[in-house]
Amino acid sequence: MTSARACPPCRVLLVSTNSEADPHPVYPLGLEYLRAALMAQGHEVRIFDVNMSAPGAPDLEPAVLAFAPDLIGVSIRNVDNTDGTAPVSYLPEARALVARMRAVRPVPVVLGGSGFSIFPARIFEWMGADYGVIGPGEEALCALAALVKTGAAEDSIPGLVYRKAGSVEVNPPSAGLRGVGGVARDPGLVKGYWALGGSMNLQLKRGCPHACIYCTYPALEGAHLLEADAASAVDDIQRLYEEHGVDSFFVVDSVFNLAQSQAGAFARELVRRRLPVRWTAFFMPKGITAEQAALWKESGLDGVELGVDTISDPLLRRWGKPFSAEDVLESARVLARADLPYAMYLLFGGPGETRATFEETVSRADECPRAVVFAFSGMRIYPNSPLHRAAIEDGMIGGEDDLLEPRFYLSKELGADWLKTRRTELARRTNWMVAGRNMDALKRMAGMLRRNGHKGSLWQRVRPT
Ligand code: SF4
Repeated sequence: MTSARACPPCRVLLVSTNSEADPHPVYPLGLEYLRAALMAQGHEVRIFDVNMSAPGAPDLEPAVLAFAPDLIGVSIRNVDNTDGTAPVSYLPEARALVARMRAVRPVPVVLGGSGFSIFPARIFEWMGADYGVIGPGEEALCALAALVKTGAAEDSIPGLVYRKAGSVEVNPPSAGLRGVGGVARDPGLVKGYWALGGSMNLQLKRGCPHACIYCTYPALEGAHLLEADAASAVDDIQRLYEEHGVDSFFVVDSVFNLAQSQAGAFARELVRRRLPVRWTAFFMPKGITAEQAALWKESGLDGVELGVDTISDPLLRRWGKPFSAEDVLESARVLARADLPYAMYLLFGGPGETRATFEETVSRADECPRAVVFAFSGMRIYPNSPLHRAAIEDGMIGGEDDLLEPRFYLSKELGADWLKTRRTELARRTNWMVAGRNMDALKRMAGMLRRNGHKGSLWQRVRPT
């Protein structure tokens, strides 16, 4: 990485454009890792977060003018809401923010974030940015800060997206530093997000070695796990609890229990320090033991979010899921016996889905004791994924579609009217939250509870007794 001596100090404004508040506003943890890396190189950094501003971010221009940055980094976390029943693109809002900043401060704008990294060249051109960074941004942004001041070579910066001789170049992403574990946080942001409700997020690891047909995580974060030291992550929790009273956390790893020994070490450290905090995370429904469940519960785990998708073995195999229907049922039984609330996320309509596999999943979900179910329909298609190829082969999309506008794979076998009827019927169940049907009611309840000071996740409130 560029040394502080070789790189004169630069003022960098990092902008979080993510205003999505469902299920709750998401703390810009990725920007904190970038901020820490830049500050370690001697740069001056500020974060502007649209969630900390009034609707429409009226204080954006004053903030830019007051700080007078040399470089503006814009984070695009998601390109859309991935909801096949009511898709919403976030890109127009991000583009408008970039245009407003450019109008008052014409310095280089660099785009980054996981949403950007899926469509780098396309978003780069559409938003008229000066640079982009795919993958981990720490190394690239520090190098860009040097480039702004000293004119370093663009082709040597890992993950850089830039123009060269009229075309868009994309350098291979950095294989080096990636933000994970504890990080110094902006006290104003912590206070602001805690006041908004929800949970404070935490990243214990990055990467996933699996290859589910629709998923972008392995491409974005790598197929190998990068694990944080569990004690350093708990240091972060302890600091946030002692300094800000934060007592509810969400581990944002793609799958918490992918790294079994880290999962145990994290929980044991929380127990050892007797921190009165609660936490939730995404789990894979496989290999969860009674001993693990008991330890996690003792450490404050109060909600398990299971990424299930389907409970039909042929579909699990076809979609590349690394577990079986029996793994799902056994995980549910273990969690229920431990009296740990759990929610299952189901995704209907992917390749090979038929009415029979749909009903198989519903009836197996009924066998899961005290389950809360979140049901979605339609798989978001991302470029160059196995799902993308299947969608072209099955005539769902044309090969020329760049997929920036949300496109979803929805099996024709189901039939639109039949699916609509079944979704409506399932939404009558009190423990099923069906996207495009009764899920909005939960969102409204969540908004009301948060305004009354409720923290943490809320789906436990619809758990069957
Ligand atoms: S296990 Fe989860 S994170 Fe990994 S590829 Fe599958 S869906 Fe993605």
